Amino acid sequence: MTKLRCAHCGIRFTPAPQVPNQAYCSKPDCQKERRRQWQKSKLQSDPDYRDNQSRAQKAWTDRNPEYWRNHRLNRPDYGNTLPGEQASDAPEPGNQSVARCGGCYESVQRDPALSCSRKRRYSGPTK
Ligand SMILES: [Zn+2]
Repeated sequence: MTKLRCAHCGIRFTPAPQVPNQAYCSKPDCQKERRRQWQKSKLQSDPDYRDNQSRAQKAWTDRNPEYWRNHRLNRPDYGNTLPGEQASDAPEPGNQSVARCGGCYESVQRDPALSCSRKRRYSGPTK
């Protein structure tokens, strides 16, 4: 079996029969280098591929605008909530745990059926 010399680390290795023109050995570093070289030549020879790559990267950045900011702000005291996670289409807070008093429409933190304390003093029109 002919041995080849790895183009990255220079060791001699036995090429896999199913891989023609194998230039790199199977070490992870050398495979990484192989992919890097492949991508480099691909980028030089294929403008469409280059275009796709930069577009995909930009699309990802557009979809994750908070990523880098969060990455930097990610401190232990920051809590579990990421900023920006709730901003867009979260329901109005008043619909969750805070109810409106049936009498004066003040916010009450309790069961919607209960009225706030003002109800007792204020008994004006309900609607
Ligand atoms: Zn190698």
